[in-house]
Amino acid sequence: AMFDNLSRSIEKAQRLIGKTGTLTSENMKEPLKEVRRALLEADVSLPVVRRFIKKIEERALGTKVLEGVTPDVQFIKVVSNELIDLMGGGVGAKDLEPGFPQIILMAGLQGVGKTTAAGKLALYLKKSKKSCLLVATDVYRPAAIDQLVKLGTAIDVPVFELGTQVDPVEIAKRGIEEAKRLGVDAVIVDTAGRLQVDEDMMGELRSIKSAVRPSDTLLVVDAMTGQEAANLVKAFNDAVDITGAILTKMDGDSRGGAALSVREVSGKPIKFVGVGEKMEALEPFYPERMASRILGMGDVLTLYEKAEQAIKDEDAKKMMDRLLEEKFDFNDFLNQWKSMNNMGGLQMLKMMPGFNKVSEKALYEAEKQFESYATIINAMDEEERTNPEVIIKSLARRRRVAQDSGKTEAEVSKLMTAYTQLKAQVGGMSKLLKLQRAGGNQE
Ligand code: GDP
Repeated sequence: AMFDNLSRSIEKAQRLIGKTGTLTSENMKEPLKEVRRALLEADVSLPVVRRFIKKIEERALGTKVLEGVTPDVQFIKVVSNELIDLMGGGVGAKDLEPGFPQIILMAGLQGVGKTTAAGKLALYLKKSKKSCLLVATDVYRPAAIDQLVKLGTAIDVPVFELGTQVDPVEIAKRGIEEAKRLGVDAVIVDTAGRLQVDEDMMGELRSIKSAVRPSDTLLVVDAMTGQEAANLVKAFNDAVDITGAILTKMDGDSRGGAALSVREVSGKPIKFVGVGEKMEALEPFYPERMASRILGMGDVLTLYEKAEQAIKDEDAKKMMDRLLEEKFDFNDFLNQWKSMNNMGGLQMLKMMPGFNKVSEKALYEAEKQFESYATIINAMDEEERTNPEVIIKSLARRRRVAQDSGKTEAEVSKLMTAYTQLKAQVGGMSKLLKLQRAGGNQE
C-alpha cells in the first residue's frame, strides 16, 4: 500500500518526461523521499540513511530514464543497484577466510543468537566436509556452556570446555591446542556476550583475539536490532576489527536494515544470515534479496525489469521483421555488427577485476572499428544508407563519402566488404527463419 502513490504517478509522469528523460534534482525529489522512508522503515540508522541518500543522489543525477518507466522507477532501480553493490562487496568476499585450522571467533551481545550461530556454522562446515571443534568460553553463564554442549551433541561436533572456573583467554588458547591435536579443519570459539556494549566485554574479546589469532572474527547481529545496529557495529569493529557479520533472525519480520548499517559503518561483509532456530537455518548472504527486502519495493523493480524486457523484445522483433523482409541496410549493419562483436559484453568485462590486457586491446580495437564505420555511414545520404547498392556500385559516391567523413577510400571499401559479408550471413539466417516458419505452418 505504501507504494500505491508511486505506482499511480507512473503513467502521469511518463507523459510528462517523454522518451529521453534523465534524472534531475527535480524529478528525483519524490522518489528520494520514498526511498528515505523505506530505509528508515527498514531500520537503517539515520546517519547511514543520510550518507547513503546523498551519495545516491549525486550518482543518479543525469542517469538516463529507460523508455517505458518513470524517473521514480529509474531512481529506485539506481538505489537498488547501489544497495546490491554496497552489500555485495566483490567476488568471494562473503566466504570464510582460509586458515589451518580456520579459527572463527564469534562476537556479539547476549541473546542475539551467537551460540546458536556457532552451532549452525559448525554444521555448515561439517556439510562442506570440514571437521570442526566448538570452544565454550562463556564462563559467566553455566547455561551458555550447557547450551553449546547440547548443540554439539545434536550435530555431532565435539565441544571443548573447562567449566566456569578457568579464565576465558586460557580456555580459548587450550581450545586451539586441542583443535591442533585433533587435527580438525576449523575451530569455532564462542564468547560471552553482555546485554550492552561494555569495556570489560571488549577487553576480554581483544585478549581472546590476540591469544588465538583467528582467521575470522564474526560479529553476530540480531536483525531486529534496528537503529542501534550502526553504533553496535562501530563499537565492535573499532575494538576487535571484525572480518564480517552474521545477521540472525531474518526469519522474523525485520526488513533487515541492519545489513546496510553493518556494511556502511564497517565496510565488512555480511557473510551469513540466520533464518530460524534450527541448526540448518543458516544461509549464505544474498545481496539482491536483502536489497529488495530493505527497499520493500519488489513491485517497482519488477516493473523496471518488465520495461527493460519489453525494449529488448521490441528490438529483437524489429530485427526479425526486417530479416524476414530481407532488408539489411547500413543502419542494420551497425546494429548487427555491434551485437556480433559483443561490445556490450566487452564493456562489462572491462569493469571486472582481473580483466586482462588482451581483452582490453580487443575492446579498444572493436570500438575504433565501430567508430570508423559509424563515421563513414554518417557521411552518407539517406538513399545510400537505406539502399547500400547505390554506393557499392558507384565509385564517385564512395569517393565523396570518403572525403566527407575524413576517411580513406580504402576504409570505405573495407566497410563495403564488411557490409556485403554480414549481409550474406544475415541472408542465410533469414532463409533459415523462413524455412522454420514454413515448417511450423505445416504442422
Ligand atoms: P546468544 O546469547 O547470543 O548466544 O543467543 P542464543 O544463541 O542463545 O539465541 C537466543 C535465542 O534466539 C534463542 O532462543 C535462539 O533459538 C534464537 N535464535 C537464534 N538465531 C535465530 C534465528 O536465526 N531465528 C530465530 N527465529 N531465532 C533465533
